[in-house]
Amino acid sequence: MLIVKKFGGSSVANRERIFNVARRCIEDYKAGNDVVVVLSAMGDTTDELIEMAHSINPHPPKREMDMLLAVGEQMSVAYMGMAMDSLGIPAISLNAFQVKMRTNSSYGSAKLKRIDTERIRNELEMRKIVIITGFQGINKMEDLTTLGRGGSDTTAVALAAALHADACEIYTDVDGVYTADPRIVPNARKLPEISYSEMLEMASLGAKVLHNRSVELAKKYGVQLVVRSSLNTNEGTVVKEAARMERMIVSGVASDKNVARISVMGVENEPGVAFKVFNSLAKKNINVDIILQSVGREGTKDIAFTVAKDDLDAAIEVIKEDMKIFTAKGYEVETGVAKVSIVGAGMTTHPGVAAKMFGALSAGGINIKMISTSEIRITVVVDENEADRAVRLIHDAFDLAD
Ligand code: ADP
Ligand code: ASP
Ligand code: MG
Repeated sequence: MLIVKKFGGSSVANRERIFNVARRCIEDYKAGNDVVVVLSAMGDTTDELIEMAHSINPHPPKREMDMLLAVGEQMSVAYMGMAMDSLGIPAISLNAFQVKMRTNSSYGSAKLKRIDTERIRNELEMRKIVIITGFQGINKMEDLTTLGRGGSDTTAVALAAALHADACEIYTDVDGVYTADPRIVPNARKLPEISYSEMLEMASLGAKVLHNRSVELAKKYGVQLVVRSSLNTNEGTVVKEAARMERMIVSGVASDKNVARISVMGVENEPGVAFKVFNSLAKKNINVDIILQSVGREGTKDIAFTVAKDDLDAAIEVIKEDMKIFTAKGYEVETGVAKVSIVGAGMTTHPGVAAKMFGALSAGGINIKMISTSEIRITVVVDENEADRAVRLIHDAFDLAD
């Protein structure tokens, strides 16, 4: 078997944990498998590098940021290679440059395009454990790029697809995917399995246990994932194409605090205005999420939308520049907001799901600022400091606890 095993930052946070990971990998290796290990940066390394960068330059060039952040993963793989060597196992660490992990040039949120598997195959052929840096790639200029925060999951899935691996295991600091973040809802329940579509929604709506693009890739290439803990041998969560007959109405609750709301006021109430607003944002690669348009009155209307906090400065720039184009009277920015969402493939066939969710919030006295729905999710925007409580109330209302 060829197994891809990915370990997140907390799983390699110190010497003891590095050896713990090394031993787990060696176990599979000794059983006769080919083992490819993908690692994230140790503990809070990435955060610390970002903090230092911002102390030097509050708006560091994105290219330089990627040059810097790629260092974190490189430390992990080198230490792992040393740990395995000290345990008498042949292993080799490789970075994105050595593998030739090609991405586009969007520094900070690069997309993987192609992975050369030749070097990896050769090393496996020589019966080595191959340890690869997560999160990083190289673009056509051979500059280092990174895939976005949490991106090592995506590296692992992409490698599993490229190598036609028999298993792709994502090891983290919780036992699997839960009905809500167990740090927010202590009695959340571990899901034995979840479909790609539901997991994709959960991840995109803030459940950072998996990078959303890793789920997208897994779905596209049919890579079955297992999410489990690096600290115990409990069974994890299987992420795969839907298989259950009896669907749960709601699989989970997710929240995302990396949200800001922009309201553009008094734009002309005529065709093409929304197009102008969102076209300008799209051209700058700014992802707009929930959109709310007020009922027009006296020839004008208001348009409000959410963006990721990281995109806020860029979004404000665009709005300021283009105010004249869409004849707006002004704009307002609100940063203390969060998204809270429920996800479930069974929602389509069960009426009253939204009512139950809004009822739980209303009973808790939590005001809903915006609403957005799709086939398998409902998202509301609430005050940021009420988000955790909202998650718990909704989790309770749908009886999701253990
Ligand atoms: P890693 O460093 O291993 O990649 P992350 O911190 O990126 O780990 O992701 C794991 C974290 O995701 C958990 O510690 C947990 O707090 C959070 N999380 C959010 N939502 C969920 C969920 N529904 N199920 C499990 N964990 C979740
Ligand atoms: N080290 C990177 C980050 O913190 C990538 C990862 O952890 O997946 O975002
Ligand atoms: Mg992660």
